Amino acid sequence: MTHIAPQPGIMDIALYEGGAAHVKGMSNVTKLSSNENPLGPSPKAIEAMQAAVAQMHRYPSSDHASLRGAIGDVYGLPAEQIICGAGSDEIIAFLCQAYAGPGDEVLFTEHGFAMYRISALAAGATPVEVRERERVTDVDALIEGCTDRTRLVFIANPNNPTGTMISTAELARLADGIPKQAILVLDGAYAEYVEGYDAGASLVASRDNVVMTRTFSKIYGLGGARVGWGYAPKPIIDVLNRIRGPFNLSSTALAAAEAAVRDTAYTEHCRKENATWRSWLAEALAELGIPSDTSCANFILARFASAQEAESCDAYLQSRGLIVRRVAGYKLPAALRMTVGDEASCRALAAA
Ligand code: PMP
Repeated sequence: MTHIAPQPGIMDIALYEGGAAHVKGMSNVTKLSSNENPLGPSPKAIEAMQAAVAQMHRYPSSDHASLRGAIGDVYGLPAEQIICGAGSDEIIAFLCQAYAGPGDEVLFTEHGFAMYRISALAAGATPVEVRERERVTDVDALIEGCTDRTRLVFIANPNNPTGTMISTAELARLADGIPKQAILVLDGAYAEYVEGYDAGASLVASRDNVVMTRTFSKIYGLGGARVGWGYAPKPIIDVLNRIRGPFNLSSTALAAAEAAVRDTAYTEHCRKENATWRSWLAEALAELGIPSDTSCANFILARFASAQEAESCDAYLQSRGLIVRRVAGYKLPAALRMTVGDEASCRALAAA
């Protein structure tokens, strides 16, 4: 017996990863379905990970002090208000476990990241989906969607899979508009792609019910290492640390993330490369008559005339070894999400 309600689980999500079955046996596959950094991590992160392997018989740090210190230095945040997890997925799960249970509501937008729903249901809470306005987060709809049972409000900014984002003034209006018993979670998985954007850190500092989550899986190119982090008021950090296992991050993951975050020149290089090829790809698609919203992240949501057209384009791209992501599960059947790859992948995608 289990108390977990029927829900789409991780095996359903894995299906969206882009036709793994179709590409079996194909050499030369270009994966543009998971918003990974095509340039990979900083070479310093690889070196640090290799050095950490020598100490594999030892348990890793349980307080993550060294990594939290590095994040604090680079982002200008107090290390004692940072918590690290196995991907930001784990921080999202901790928040739901700690703050939402049966009878509580967890709000997110209609194209919100899939883990918000999964983690809410896993915690026994009720997921509540709120409409967007033309694929953009609608602050009024989120405020109106809150009730006295709302405990968590998740938004990703920039949003996945739409790539759109709202201003910090709008985020502040949202923080002020939700009920006091609710925590606003600002998911900044793609924040580093936006020059000068603090992902809502200033709102965390000035309020007691705002949390920011970040990841090493996107611009830092370490999706396989599974490292994410959260920045929150100290009382929330203390609660989350009560449910965190002591060794939730491996020593190799900790070493890689610390070296990656400190290599700010490499991060800047990745941000610029992404901006260049994102514009190039959006223009190439527009010339083919395929529109997309202006993306602030490392992917483009290409919109087709019909679901059928998107489906056949997806099938054709797969036959050429180009794996993009169908987002029908997000009620966007006529769209394909394409990660901005390196120059060669972008050119191959546009040519196909
Ligand atoms: N939030 C958003 C909006 C995402 O797109 C992703 C990854 N796809 C995550 C969080 C989770 O990333 P990770 O667990 O790898 O840190």
